[in-house]
Amino acid sequence: MNVARSVLLVVASLLLGACALAPPPEIAITTDAGIVRAPREGVALETAADLPRLVDALRVELVDTRDDPIEVWVQDEVTLYRGSAMSSDIGGFAHRELDRIHIATSNRAERTLYLAHELVHLLLGEGWQTLPLAVEEGLCDHLALRVTGYDGARLIARHLTGAALAVDELRFTVRMIPKRHARQRAGASWGQVSLSDGPRPLDDWLGRSESVTDAAFDADASVRMRGVGYVLARRILARGGISALHDLCRRADVEGHERVPAEWLLKAAGFDGSSALTDVWRGWTGTAAGSRDVAAMVAAHVDVLAEQIANLLEAKGLAPDAVFHDLALSIAVGDARPRHTVDRASPLGIAIHERLEARQLIASIGR
Ligand SMILES: [Zn+2]
Repeated sequence: MNVARSVLLVVASLLLGACALAPPPEIAITTDAGIVRAPREGVALETAADLPRLVDALRVELVDTRDDPIEVWVQDEVTLYRGSAMSSDIGGFAHRELDRIHIATSNRAERTLYLAHELVHLLLGEGWQTLPLAVEEGLCDHLALRVTGYDGARLIARHLTGAALAVDELRFTVRMIPKRHARQRAGASWGQVSLSDGPRPLDDWLGRSESVTDAAFDADASVRMRGVGYVLARRILARGGISALHDLCRRADVEGHERVPAEWLLKAAGFDGSSALTDVWRGWTGTAAGSRDVAAMVAAHVDVLAEQIANLLEAKGLAPDAVFHDLALSIAVGDARPRHTVDRASPLGIAIHERLEARQLIASIGR
């Protein structure tokens, strides 16, 4: 679901050289909003039903939109060129010069979400040019979720995780409850563990013009950039509506900025400084995530969490066998309700146990 302006410019110049472009998909259906081309009739009909509906819904949400006719290519492998598919995790891209969107066939719900996201890229008019790419991506995701009704819990959890890591840290609360009391409602927090790859100034993320289609831009950085953009776009829209964001873009243009400055975006989003920003993101990360999202976050960071939780357990003087035998261990993101119970046989449970045993062995040799 990424558009890369830098990549697209190269693409446009190559087009003039008439290199081997992918042929248009076989089935074509004309709609009020443009042409849909797809490899099979079923997919073509579904997408042709989605296109005018989504364009209408997005025009209601947006201001300053373009109204050039749009072409949508649904492809089994998303590509502009014959015989060179893009990475399989790219659901689509938008090509402004061609007014064309390419999306992957995938399943109906995802395809509709990709289409809505890419449509936002194409619909943004001239006045939006100073919008930083990170925030544009955030706006696309936010509006796509709104007009499609797609269950975006996982996508939002990923964005919030990325945003927290981009500016500061992702904090987890660890609780340990004696099993014989496990039926009691809550256990006290036994400690906190946090993940961080070092704070970075917001400008680092907002100044980026690459996307994941650029080989120099790694996937972790993409998750962080898009997280920052999503949080800013969503909060600015919640506070001042779409016109608040558009006004910033026009003002930046009038005042000769290439992009809307980071401090303007922070202020419009209601963040006063980096510490307030961090607090809000921490809280939000917790409340927006459900237990399956917490489980996914935990699974993605097993080694770092195991090391820190082992430190915590060691500091409490717990023997490895006691940890899972007598205690129930659970993790939450921030201070939020949804908790993930760590099972002894889970990857995190095994990793914690191994670390505690290794440390005990080292301690006994040292004696
Ligand atoms: Zn995008």
